[in-house]
Amino acid sequence: MLSSNKIGVDAGGTLIKIAYMQDGVLQFEKVPAAEIAQAAKRLRDRFPDADICATGGKSALLQSHLQRPIRSMVEFDATCKGAKFLMERQGIFPDSFVLTNVGTGTSVHYVEKDRHLRVGGIGVGGGTLMGLSYLLTGIRDYEEIIRMSRLGNRKHIDLKVSDIYEGTEPPIPGDLTASNFGKALGLQTGREPEDMLASVIGLVGETITTISVQAAAQSGTSSIVYIGSSFIENDVLENTVANYTRLRGCEPTVLKDGHYSGALGALLS
Ligand code: ADP
Ligand code: MG
Repeated sequence: MLSSNKIGVDAGGTLIKIAYMQDGVLQFEKVPAAEIAQAAKRLRDRFPDADICATGGKSALLQSHLQRPIRSMVEFDATCKGAKFLMERQGIFPDSFVLTNVGTGTSVHYVEKDRHLRVGGIGVGGGTLMGLSYLLTGIRDYEEIIRMSRLGNRKHIDLKVSDIYEGTEPPIPGDLTASNFGKALGLQTGREPEDMLASVIGLVGETITTISVQAAAQSGTSSIVYIGSSFIENDVLENTVANYTRLRGCEPTVLKDGHYSGALGALLS
């Protein structure tokens, strides 16, 4: 099914993801979307005769840089196809599930065996993580943001239900966030960048979980599969999303290599 002279490309708003087969082994690569011209040149040089199938918002731009015709695929079809392939390989077989793609923005799908449907989306996603982190701390490097967020503590910035119900029994779990950044106005001491970054990831994670859980309830499933490059090496986001999804009564999977779903779907087409 996978031919070695075929390449799947998912040219997204932030990252270009590439999937191809080499010596029978599936290979993945990613490059910043800002370097799309160089990426196209490298693809042309390395794979002069390959059949390229592209998806994602920047696939037309990629084609113009490649200067040769390529096939294109609807992004949501590619993403769902690739995600299903990865899930099967990893032994994950829900009958139906919500697929939440946390890319630059976030897109939510309902997937059944032979059918998928986009059920929503939200502008809060990986781009929000990067943008808010930058505005608050001046840091723009993804890996540095993630590394520092691990050292942060949200309790200085986020208001919990238990903070409001001081000393009394709250009607909902006290550990839930009552207000993301709700303590910021009362900050007495330093605004540690680590704490702010942890809170930014908390905001993004809780928001995407909330819309995913609501989509799951509406669709009559309790399985939620999370993909997208925002989860790369990002254990703070992964843990926030996984724990909060469970607390809301759904079963989370943060899919390994999930950020290559679109490229893989294009490769498989
Ligand atoms: P898109 O398809 O819109 O390009 P992705 O699924 O590739 O989106 O996710 C993009 C997000 O992934 C970024 O907004 C950022 O939060 C995160 N990310 C992971 N690795 C990087 C990186 N090396 N550079 C920039 N952003 C990264
Ligand atoms: Mg994408």
